[in-house]
Amino acid sequence: PHTMRLQRFLARAGVASRRGSENLMTAGRVTVNGKVASELGTKVDVDRDVIAVDGHVVKLAERPVYLMLHKPAGYLTTMSDPKGRPCVAELVPTDLHPGLFPVGRLDLDTTGLLLFTTDGDLAHELLHPSRHVDKAYIAHVDGRVTGRDLMPLCQGIVLDDGPCQPARCRILKPAQARAVCPRGIDPGTSVVEVIIHEGRKNQVKRMLSAVGHPVIALHRPRFGPLELRDLAPGTWRYLTEHETEQIC
Ligand code: URA
Repeated sequence: PHTMRLQRFLARAGVASRRGSENLMTAGRVTVNGKVASELGTKVDVDRDVIAVDGHVVKLAERPVYLMLHKPAGYLTTMSDPKGRPCVAELVPTDLHPGLFPVGRLDLDTTGLLLFTTDGDLAHELLHPSRHVDKAYIAHVDGRVTGRDLMPLCQGIVLDDGPCQPARCRILKPAQARAVCPRGIDPGTSVVEVIIHEGRKNQVKRMLSAVGHPVIALHRPRFGPLELRDLAPGTWRYLTEHETEQIC
């Protein structure tokens, strides 16, 4: 089933803002299958439950779409480029789902999981640092990284645009690194995993440069609970019901 919190349902249906919808609920004006639903934690099944405000049944215009793309290198994270450069819009089914857009961005040369949705409300929510969506990055970097090199990142390094929240970092063993560097890693380079929940411009690259290890290649295998697994570069798939529920 496709479930979501009732206040989110009401906001998405255009009844009121999220906050306004919460007020309607606590005022006892919202019913689910005929029963007053004033608890803010109430979840509803979008396809089955009958939701009403002041006795008027509320429906979503259409079900939002959620899909993930394995972004290849060389594509801009934008839905159109005035200069005609390759952009991710060419790789997702915009003809089937007008209004699809990416949640956040990956740099031109960065590969990995990019979430797309038609659900602007969710996109806004997921990008907010307070939601603490972990993004895992695998970085192939210049130089031999030591645990000591990564310590400033784990503690929260200060960049030009301010302090970063502490990141989770680890150095990958050659066998783990081969999964992201199939051609093998050159001597004099390392592969590290960096997990952050912010998303500032070039953040991971700037973090690693700041500790003396410029990024050679960057890949994002995971965005919150969503994992790319064996999705081929340049291809997309819809999220499963379970995945959709986890992010909504
Ligand atoms: N951090 C970066 O530096 N680049 C990305 O594409 C994503 C995170």
